[in-house]
Amino acid sequence: MRKLLLTATIFYALFLLAPNYRHYPAEGLNDYLLITGHGLLSSLGLFAFLFILILNKYAWSLLLPLLSMAAGVTAFFVWQIDISVNPALIESIFNTHAGEALDYLSWPLALIALLHLLVALGFSYWRWHTNWRGRDNLYFLAAAVMAATVFNIVNNKRVNTLSSRAPFVYYSAIKEQLQNKADSRLPRKAPGQLLHCGEDSLTVVLIIGEALRADHLQMNGYDRVTMPLMEARDVISFPNIYSPHTHTAASLPYMLTRAQPKLSDPMQDEHSLVQLFQECGFRTTWLANQNPISTFSFIINECDSSIINKPHLSDYSNTPKYDSDLLPHFKRLNAEGHANQLIIVHIAGNHWWYNKNLPPDFHYYQPVMENKRLSPANRQKMINSYDNVTRFTDYVIDQMLQQLDEKNAWMIFLADHGQSFGEDGKWLHANDAPQEQNPASFAWFSDKYIKSHSEKVAQLTKNRLDTTDTAFLFHTLLQGSGIKTDRYEEQWDLFVP
Ligand SMILES: [Zn+2]
Repeated sequence: MRKLLLTATIFYALFLLAPNYRHYPAEGLNDYLLITGHGLLSSLGLFAFLFILILNKYAWSLLLPLLSMAAGVTAFFVWQIDISVNPALIESIFNTHAGEALDYLSWPLALIALLHLLVALGFSYWRWHTNWRGRDNLYFLAAAVMAATVFNIVNNKRVNTLSSRAPFVYYSAIKEQLQNKADSRLPRKAPGQLLHCGEDSLTVVLIIGEALRADHLQMNGYDRVTMPLMEARDVISFPNIYSPHTHTAASLPYMLTRAQPKLSDPMQDEHSLVQLFQECGFRTTWLANQNPISTFSFIINECDSSIINKPHLSDYSNTPKYDSDLLPHFKRLNAEGHANQLIIVHIAGNHWWYNKNLPPDFHYYQPVMENKRLSPANRQKMINSYDNVTRFTDYVIDQMLQQLDEKNAWMIFLADHGQSFGEDGKWLHANDAPQEQNPASFAWFSDKYIKSHSEKVAQLTKNRLDTTDTAFLFHTLLQGSGIKTDRYEEQWDLFVP
């Protein structure tokens, strides 16, 4: 029995866990040691799981072949195209036609599934022909308990670093998907009574940026040119926006609902501004290069339509998923000819790991990052990659604005938070550090819009240095789009003196 358990653990560690590391950027001995350590720790979880299963020969013989095939097929896709199992992927599997699914079938895939079935049947046969000795039981029980404990401690210390990978990820992904479904059915109140709709042909674009800090834009005094096209378009930049939240999951519902400092309830119990746009006859679309998170999936569900780019790739994957993939969709939406339209674009922008958001022709500042290490030695490369992504964002937004130049339209960009580059030992975000609480934001107006709303635009320009909170977005976006409600609050409106 000992031999069976160890053989099975080694087999599955090689065929299920190892593919997870194929797309991981590694440079030098240190990275390889880290990857090996990560793999060994994951194997402990596998060992503990197989130990529980092997205790009962019926469970072992029935479940192992099924789990083995499912996990084997997943590992194949992880190896081949770096997929990650998440609610967005589960959703898209259910919405995929049989025809599209057939595209994924291939001989290597069939062989992998067959191999896993045969090996699992072999393990079943072996299980039925060996006896479980009392002493084995005790040693292996102790080993399994220790393995599970170490697995859990490491996994909790480095937030889900082990459980977010195949095959463990099935459990959390299915749980999260069910939670999202339940959440979207919760009753929510209206964010206000509609009083007036002032526009009959307006395109409004809200671009939600990711981790872009205000002081990395040359419009705000940065010594590198990171947004040449936006500057040429004379966007109105707001350098003094404060974000109380420094991670996407909390920041997005805060920005898009009536929530404000000391009033967080609307994030949980009110609809977002999307509902008010709809009531004013706007066609609403969520166009995203980031996967939904349970805290804001209700907003996506409020939209008339949603497009999520490559949901099978995790936002933390190492495989390219460019914001420019959204451009054909954006073009099509603008060609559909809706009189009033709201497009919310959720870009990947400066999401870690920067290189996966960055086409090689945008490696403007050199050298760029080669690995994912967060260390002072890597800091300058990290900033180079980060600034290059900002230049790419500049390009993507300019491409979008080209679709709006001739229309009555306006666009506002607001990043969900900033980013740390080792200040006070802090890296990336979710640390509530000052540099993470000052997101980039700017607005652009088409000539037609400026012609008919010159006073509004002039006032916004005058207010551009105001110090405010990301709560300004709700009231400012409605005001700029001619939508009035009984819950309007002037203090959050950048269009008024
Ligand atoms: Zn974020």
